[in-house]
Formats: sequence, C-alpha cells, structure tokens
Amino acid sequence: MKTAKKTDITYTNKNGYERLSSADAKLMDAVNRFYIDFLGAAKTEREAHDESVKLLEAAGFKNLELFEKKNLKLRAGDKIYKSCGGKTLMAVLIGKKPLEAGMHIVGAHTDAPRIDIKQNPLYENGDMALLDTHYYGGIKKYQWVTIPLALHGVFIKPDGRTIKITIGEDPSEPALCITDLLPHLAADQIKKPLSEGIEGENLDVIVGSMPVKDKKRKEKIKYNVLKILHDKYGVTEEDFLSAELELVPADRPREAGLDRSLVLGYGQDDRVCAYAALKALLDIKGAPEHTSCVLLCDKEEIGSVGATGMASNFFENTSAELVNLTSERYSGLILKRALNNSWMLSADVNALFDPLYASVSEKKNSAILNHGVCLTKYCGARGKSGSSDASAEFVAEIRRIFDKAGVIWQTGELGKVDQGGGGTIAWLMARYGMHVVDCGVGLLSMHAPMELAGKLDIYMAYKGYLAFFRDGRK
Ligand code: MN
Ligand code: MN
Repeated sequence: MKTAKKTDITYTNKNGYERLSSADAKLMDAVNRFYIDFLGAAKTEREAHDESVKLLEAAGFKNLELFEKKNLKLRAGDKIYKSCGGKTLMAVLIGKKPLEAGMHIVGAHTDAPRIDIKQNPLYENGDMALLDTHYYGGIKKYQWVTIPLALHGVFIKPDGRTIKITIGEDPSEPALCITDLLPHLAADQIKKPLSEGIEGENLDVIVGSMPVKDKKRKEKIKYNVLKILHDKYGVTEEDFLSAELELVPADRPREAGLDRSLVLGYGQDDRVCAYAALKALLDIKGAPEHTSCVLLCDKEEIGSVGATGMASNFFENTSAELVNLTSERYSGLILKRALNNSWMLSADVNALFDPLYASVSEKKNSAILNHGVCLTKYCGARGKSGSSDASAEFVAEIRRIFDKAGVIWQTGELGKVDQGGGGTIAWLMARYGMHVVDCGVGLLSMHAPMELAGKLDIYMAYKGYLAFFRDGRK
C-alpha cells in the first residue's frame, strides 16, 4: 500500500550541488566557458556593448534603426536591438502577444568600478611621467595600487574620428601601475583608516620614465610619452580633452579554486548578469508569449545618471518605437499599458556570505555561495530606505516559474539591517508600475579589482532568466 507523500513544512537554503542534475552540470561548464571569454573581452562598458552586439548579430538580431527609418513593421519572432551612445543596449525578441500585454525584461548593467583618466592628465614629476585620474564608482582605493593595470578607451577627434586604444592586455604589451608607499616609510599612513590610507588624488598612474633626446625641450619624459602616443595612434596632448580612457585590472578572468568551482575576474558586477541575460535571450527558441527584452545599461555605478544611464528616457523612447512598429498606429496609451504590464528581473549582483566577515551579515537571510541565483525582495538599509521592495505577489510568480523550470535559487538581503545597503536599477523601472524584483548572482569581494563568483550561481542565473522569458503567465 502506498503511503501519502509527506509535505515538508520546513525551509532550508541548501547547497545547489546536492540537487544539480548531470545534464545541468554539463551545460554549467559550457555556459561558464563562454562567460569567461565574454568577461575577458568586455572590460569596459563600450567593449561590453560591442561584444554583445557581435553575439546578437551572429544570432540574427538586427538594428532597430533600420526598421524605424523605413517604418517596417515588426512581427512575432523578430529580433532587434538598439544602441544608445555605443554604451547602453536594448535587445528585443518580439513575442506572440501584443506589446500592450507587457514585456518580460531582464535588465543588467555593464559599467564597473574603475579608474578614469582626467581630461588634462599628463604631467612630469620626479623624473617620471604620470596620468592624473578620477576613480569611477565605489572602490576601496587601497586595492587598486601596485597591481598591473591596462588602459582602455577612445580618443574622439573634433572631425569625428574615433581612435580606440587597448594597452596592457596582451602579455607582450606594457602594463601600467599606481604606486604605494613602502612599509619602511609608512609609519603615518598605516595609522590612518583604510578610507584615508590612499587618497583619490594619489591614484595617478606611471606611464613613463625615459627622456626624449632633445636638449632644448623641457619635460623630456612627458614629451617622450606624447611622442609614443602620437607615433602609434596619431593623438596629441589636446586630444585627451575629448577622450574617455579607463584603467582596469590587466589580469584575465579565469577559473578559481582547486575544484575549479569559481570564476575570478574583473567587472563581474554586473557583466555576470549581463552575460547570463544576453545568453538566455539568444537561447529562446521561436517567439515567446510575451516580448522578451534585455537591457544592458551604463552608469549604474554612479547612480544611473546621464544619457546612457537607466534614468534617461532611452528605454521608454525605444519602447515607444516598438509600440509604433508592432501596432496599426502609435498610441501613448498603449505605451503606458505596455510598460505598466511588464515584468522585470533587475539582474544585478548581491553580496555572498563571507565567513571571514560574518559579522556584517545575518546568515539565514544572506546569499550563500553555490546555493543558486539570488532573489532580493528589497536591498535598502536602515528601514529599507530607498528600496524598490518587490511585492510578495510578484515574488510568488517568480518562485513558481523558477521551481517549475528546476532553477536552483535562494533569497538574499544585502547585509545586516543597519549595516549598509545598495541600490540597483529596479526602482527606475518600478516607476512605470511594472513588477520588478532584483535577481542576480552573489559575489565575493564585490567592487574589488578581482571579484569571485560561483559557477553554479552563474549558470542558475542564466537558467532562471531563460525560464522567465519562456514561461507564460498564469
Ligand atoms: Mn551592480
Ligand atoms: Mn556595483
């Protein structure tokens, strides 16, 4: 005689490897290999944009501007993307239902903390040439000195020419480095709090020490550096005024841990979710019920401001174009309904529980390494201040979708109640009335030059986003 299945009325957040099928284990390895390649090729927001466009075009996605110009209508199954300033990107797979029924959106960001070069940066001092910098995003400054850095970016000439540069990625190229004080002379420095040990104005990077052979010239070392740049790229000192140059860690992303269960690399906040979202969109077979959309945004790390940040009208304007090209005629009301009826996973990273710093977390509400993709209902601090706080109804919908698809997932807050907190792009999308919840990969050493993530969590983010795109609503 059969006994009735007992319902487990307790909940435990378990390690994902205990439940990982062999099919998933195989796919997990493949997805992580592709991810490591992407991460190594996408070290700035511009590069992440360009790499993503490459992947999209290879999968048959077309530039929306071609459709806009000719007023070509879009049908279910059509694949398009739209770029904003070469930095932010929106990729869309048109669904079977009208846009008015809402989209399923996964939104990540592709900018990462780094060190930007100032507009008039080059100077000579102590028989060295240096570039003055201004860091970007929330960094712990002491982590960025004495490590090999690579210089990525663009010079834009007044005639519109773009000169792309990457120096320091290939082992045959020189790396750049910011100095720190030797311990022997650091008696005063080491007494300072970590936040003051290295000052923002002291993050200048050495770019040369060899003088040019020219008796009449002053600042011969600085001149030599300019000569090297001019010979190779045709740029002058004045061209720094209209340049965007970023210093990023020169190291390549790679597997980590003796069991190879982790990925170590720069910029995983938030290129890990960006890649998982993009790969999920590319892997949808046929037209989904609801239009699927991936947003890869710039400027999240400095508040989503500016023309390429989530706070700009790019998403809304592009959605208006979609309404225009998927319906008989454009209607502002249809646009508002489409946005209001949309569902969104705000795909950003969260902090993993770190046993070395256990005191900042409340363990049972912390994301744990390899326990799966992390769903964060709210991420504000001190009374949930500034948090988008997803509704329980929407969390339940995602729970249903993930459980049905066999996604290994967990919930996680960002630290203890009064410890810190952080923000994502969730609240900017919630303004439209759509359902939004934060859902992404947990990281160790977030915002450090090299961040760590678990392969299982990365794979489950991909699997979760794919299920979210595929699954219809109840
Ligand atoms: Mn982030
Ligand atoms: Mn961040």
